[in-house]
Amino acid sequence: MYINSTSDNSVDEGSAVRTTVAVFSAQKYVLDFLHEPIIKNFPGSTFFEARLDVNTAPLAAGHQVVCCFSKDNLSREVVDKLASAGVKFVAMRCAVFHNVDLRACQEAGIAVARVPNYSPSSVAEHAVAMLLCLNRNLHLANIRMHTGDYTLSGLVGYEMRSKTIGVIGTGAVGTVACRIFRGFGCKVLAYDICESDAVKALGVEYVVKEQLLRSADIITLHCPSLPSTRHIINKSSIAIMKTGAIIVNVSRGSLVETDAAIQAIESGQLGGLALDVYEHEGALFSRNWTALSPTERFKSWDREFQRLKSHPNILITPSLSFLTEEALTNIAAETVNNIREFSAGRSLTHQVQSD
Ligand code: NAD
Repeated sequence: MYINSTSDNSVDEGSAVRTTVAVFSAQKYVLDFLHEPIIKNFPGSTFFEARLDVNTAPLAAGHQVVCCFSKDNLSREVVDKLASAGVKFVAMRCAVFHNVDLRACQEAGIAVARVPNYSPSSVAEHAVAMLLCLNRNLHLANIRMHTGDYTLSGLVGYEMRSKTIGVIGTGAVGTVACRIFRGFGCKVLAYDICESDAVKALGVEYVVKEQLLRSADIITLHCPSLPSTRHIINKSSIAIMKTGAIIVNVSRGSLVETDAAIQAIESGQLGGLALDVYEHEGALFSRNWTALSPTERFKSWDREFQRLKSHPNILITPSLSFLTEEALTNIAAETVNNIREFSAGRSLTHQVQSD
């Protein structure tokens, strides 16, 4: 599917008129928030529902800019095709750029920019929403309502105000999470390689990681994917947690050793697992699998994912903590701003470059 633009002369920057954008992975929700600002600023732009990959890259021909998301493929092979198509700028409409071969872009003369911050509240509130859903068994109660089972056994939850929350990573998102949990009346412990005075002012206590793991009833992860954070939740760290602890991960799949977490759910060591991200989500998320039969899906999905989906105290959402009107509006504005900077030949505020 592609949607071509109509022309609109309400652009206040002459050079922007000449810039057109090929927007990939343009599903309906993307069109809803991005179509109007892109077309208004860059008439002649085109929206493709397809992901960017080696087969779809030639669609960018005639456009100087491609606008992509975290699930698009910007490997060297794709970047070379984009360069052959005349692309000079990649506008990532997300914070991450793990899917972009920055060195290949640099060698091809293609600049790259991203949207580093769009709404910490959107992400933090999703973590809290997942936690409350899991803790109060809302997902199970909703299924019972639809099936006519209005009994209560098995749905007992607990109050937040008496609990200890462990927040790992107290940057933009973690700080909002701390504020929300303090609002519930929780005791909040935090661990970060950089301590924040603003977080301490909320009444949060920084502790070493082991103390947090041992003391928290609920652990929520808000640190980036780095070699130092890979499997920060693993077999050993789970072993020292309180029995029945809940883990919430809306940050990056690599933070949790999935197999260890599932085993801990199965043994009862963990009481719940709320995941908006998954280690091997790349091949799974942002796709519609409903046309496949259960058997076909079983063959297509990895075994860990099957196991994750089989436990009632594991809640999974498909990487949508950014999916609020506010965050999408901010993403659209910043994406347009990044493209306008490129178009006007200005220095790029949010450029990302290879080391
Ligand atoms: P941020 O950069 O503001 O904060 C990250 C924090 O992690 C920093 O305070 C940093 O010091 C800390 N940190 C780094 N290494 C650490 C380590 N080894 N141990 C403990 N703490 C460490 O980032 P943010 O905007 O708060 O976002 C947090 C994470 O949320 C992002 O890195 C991203 O992975 C994730 N995120 C997910 C979504 C989604 O849709 N699921 C959306 C936005 C962000």
